[in-house]
Amino acid sequence: MKVLFCSSEVVPFAKTGGLADVSGTLPAALAGAGVDVKIVMPLYRCIDKKKFKLKKLDNDTFLGKLGNKVEVYFIENKKYFDRDGLYQEKGVDYPDNLERFTYYCEQTLQLLKKIKFKPDIIHCNDWQAGLIPVYLKTRYNNDPFYRKMKTVFTIHNLGYQGLFSAEEFSLTGLDKTLFSIEGLEFYGKVNLLKGALLFSDKITTVSVAYAREIQTPEFGCGLEGVLQKRAADLTGILNGIDYDEWNPLKNKALVKNYGPENIDGKYVNKTALQKSVGLAVNKNVPLLGIITRLADQKGLDILTAVIDQIVGMPVQFILLGTGDQRYHALFEEIKKKHKNTSINLSFDAQLAYKIYAGSDIFLMPSYYEPCGLGQLISFTFGTIPLVRRTGGLADTVIDYDPFTKEGTGFVFERYEAGALLEALKRALCVYSDAKAWAGIMRRAMQSDFSWKKSAKQYCSLYTGIKSQK
Ligand code: ADP
Repeated sequence: MKVLFCSSEVVPFAKTGGLADVSGTLPAALAGAGVDVKIVMPLYRCIDKKKFKLKKLDNDTFLGKLGNKVEVYFIENKKYFDRDGLYQEKGVDYPDNLERFTYYCEQTLQLLKKIKFKPDIIHCNDWQAGLIPVYLKTRYNNDPFYRKMKTVFTIHNLGYQGLFSAEEFSLTGLDKTLFSIEGLEFYGKVNLLKGALLFSDKITTVSVAYAREIQTPEFGCGLEGVLQKRAADLTGILNGIDYDEWNPLKNKALVKNYGPENIDGKYVNKTALQKSVGLAVNKNVPLLGIITRLADQKGLDILTAVIDQIVGMPVQFILLGTGDQRYHALFEEIKKKHKNTSINLSFDAQLAYKIYAGSDIFLMPSYYEPCGLGQLISFTFGTIPLVRRTGGLADTVIDYDPFTKEGTGFVFERYEAGALLEALKRALCVYSDAKAWAGIMRRAMQSDFSWKKSAKQYCSLYTGIKSQK
């Protein structure tokens, strides 16, 4: 099986979000399962050619490696990609993003001829790669080189669709007739994600629950009709996490490594964290952690609505996040008002490890969550997630049942501040029962969300498509 994996960001080369984590780990897991997989991404300014030992192939292509198995092709174009940001600067999107990612999609298909690689499947991710399935079924439809290639398109977050003004449609090079309701037109704009949903052979998203939710008006972001029509070709495959990176037994940022066999080590990290951020050092006080993009999607409106009540209880609260300036201002206020809070408005990978290890409860009250990595990472660190029942959170966190004493976290249903507060009170009540809490921690730490299982599901999806005529 030959697969070309197309993603606009891949860890460790370039990252703005979860897409990069997936693109930096799933291809390696596929290679481990015997797939011949290659990646194509743009060569951004932030990618250090020397550090990653990139080899120049020709005027506009460089070659590098992910791990020791997966080849990564970088498309170079100084005008489009030699910039400070990937998609934007200082919160403002680049005005020529349509041109930039049209170029990326066209060059990706041209590259295949250049390197004489004929994949069975082209696996495209998010709107930036959305034109590839469209080109294959239109412009390249009669080209024998591409004729047998099939496409899989993965939605990592339906909230980001690649929307552009109608006047820019001609930049895609597509026939005018495709700017219609049956094509890429969406309320008078060009929608690249819609194009991908219409022209891909199969569509996946990153959890089973999210695959269901995006077919409803509440979560479909206007594309629910298109997704309903393609329901037979739409599946949910849960993301995994990289247990080499997210492992309290090995992580170098921790003051003491620990695992399910020596949970006490967690409290050494907790007190070290309290000390380093200026919280009162106290092993027993419940420490609530949250690491997130500061965006509406993440449930910050319901959290901030009851934050005074939350931090008025005998708890400590630590936040790490950046994003929406409105939330920056809100959390600055909270910091001024409450001594038992630590507010960190930055992106800080090292502090993130420390918070995952040092907190007792991890908050994810998201309005919607395609998969979510925070809750999976928390599990491995024995930090118990408190989540809203949505998307990947619904698929991965089992609500604690005080009667059977089973469960891996605390789950609330309604998107309301009161429901969040009630779940937190429930969690705090169980926290005061050390034996019950230790049981939840043990189960959480032993859960397995590695890539192996998901890679197997992608492999059978690929095999299924390949066998179709
Ligand atoms: P999303 O991709 O929607 O932002 P996920 O839960 O899928 O949310 O993944 C977020 C990832 O980014 C997690 O690994 C989380 O630890 C990390 N992260 C988010 N904000 C920060 C931050 N301010 N500093 C460090 N890591 C962060």
